[in-house]
Amino acid sequence: MANKNNGLRCSMCGAIDSVSTPVVQVLDGLNLCTDCIGFIDETRDRQLQDRKAAKEGKKTKSINKIPTPKEINRFLDQYIIGQDEAKKYLSVAVYNHYKRINDTKTEDDDDVEIDKSNIILVGPTGTGKTLLAKTIAKLLDVPFTIVDATVLTEAGYVGEDIESLLTRLLQACDYDVEKAQKGIVFIDEIDKIARKSANPSITRDVSGEGVQQGLLKLLEGSTVLVPPNGGRKHPEQKLIPVDTKNILFICGGAFDGIERKIASRLNTHVVGYGHDEKSKKEQRENIMRYVMPQDLKSFGLIPEIIGRLPILTSLDPLDKNALLRILTEPKNAITRQYKKLFAIDGAELEFTPEALDLITDKAIEYKLGARGLRSIVETIMVDAMYEAPSSKKKKIVVDENYVERQLEKAHFERTKLSD
Ligand code: ADP
Repeated sequence: MANKNNGLRCSMCGAIDSVSTPVVQVLDGLNLCTDCIGFIDETRDRQLQDRKAAKEGKKTKSINKIPTPKEINRFLDQYIIGQDEAKKYLSVAVYNHYKRINDTKTEDDDDVEIDKSNIILVGPTGTGKTLLAKTIAKLLDVPFTIVDATVLTEAGYVGEDIESLLTRLLQACDYDVEKAQKGIVFIDEIDKIARKSANPSITRDVSGEGVQQGLLKLLEGSTVLVPPNGGRKHPEQKLIPVDTKNILFICGGAFDGIERKIASRLNTHVVGYGHDEKSKKEQRENIMRYVMPQDLKSFGLIPEIIGRLPILTSLDPLDKNALLRILTEPKNAITRQYKKLFAIDGAELEFTPEALDLITDKAIEYKLGARGLRSIVETIMVDAMYEAPSSKKKKIVVDENYVERQLEKAHFERTKLSD
């Protein structure tokens, strides 16, 4: 009978023969489901079209105008304070990446292929890694998604399939596959999928190494079958083929404790003759700047992953001065956002320099970094936000005393609630 399960399994996607996805034997040892056959047909047609277009010297659809590295850097400067090194690396990498995409070959071109350059950003939490990736995506107007590496697991384990990170990219552009194929994926917390031991012979570490292995094929560029609704692949789900060749992957991680690995490498290889105490101290303070691929390996990333993230750069911890600037300078700085919110209600909002100083001190004290600035300002402003729309006051000044009072009150109320 036609709809009786024949027990065949698709050699490409693993789907088992069913009424909705029949699997047929194509050759001895090669079974394909109807979805994959359709996918092969589509890929063949697309490639033939691309070849024809290249022959005729036509460019395929490209990102209209790629900003130069300096323009990219200037744009980043409007939103991100400091992190000059990371900005420079990122600007060049993004520029090259998009040059590569726009470079459609003609038949008589030389055979030089520009390699894909995914990026890895190493730096403490809350220093702007996600913000950098997000801002780049905004500039280029390409689909962008953030995925937490910790939710991904190897097939067969509880969690999300690795391919599901592309589901989010597809969702970000309304399932426009062509757009998604030129998007940016930010994989956060890549350090959390590090192998627990740098020694690969140790028993298999499913949560870390398996996911890293799974990520490989995405990072290097291949066609991946993506479940449209994320989660696990189901045999009855129609999978969407997505080519990751031109997707830019930016990975970020705090890599807590990597300083020790860098330091021990530096002590053995760099610090020695000619290095005085002062420079040793400086080295310790800025140690992250010396991060090298071998440190990521000692931390537990597998060499194949490191090889596919050729651009490695670090972010500096944010000092008080940087936090102060973050409060007021970026285009969408938090104080500017509040001023705008009040202005809509017809009121002028002002923060005194002393108030800003105290807010940054509190962020440092609570060890919240830049991420804490928002929650502190929100706590301070909640009463004023509540009152302003129904008040006749035209000017609100937030000074040191007000900050102190509001924070104390919030603390008091929270302790009362937890009693
Ligand atoms: P992470 O490094 O953990 O990815 P994020 O980029 O998510 O940190 O930063 C959290 C928030 O802190 C951002 O949304 C932004 O408001 C602020 N922030 C962090 N670093 C910077 C920076 N260098 N310049 C401006 N804002 C920053």
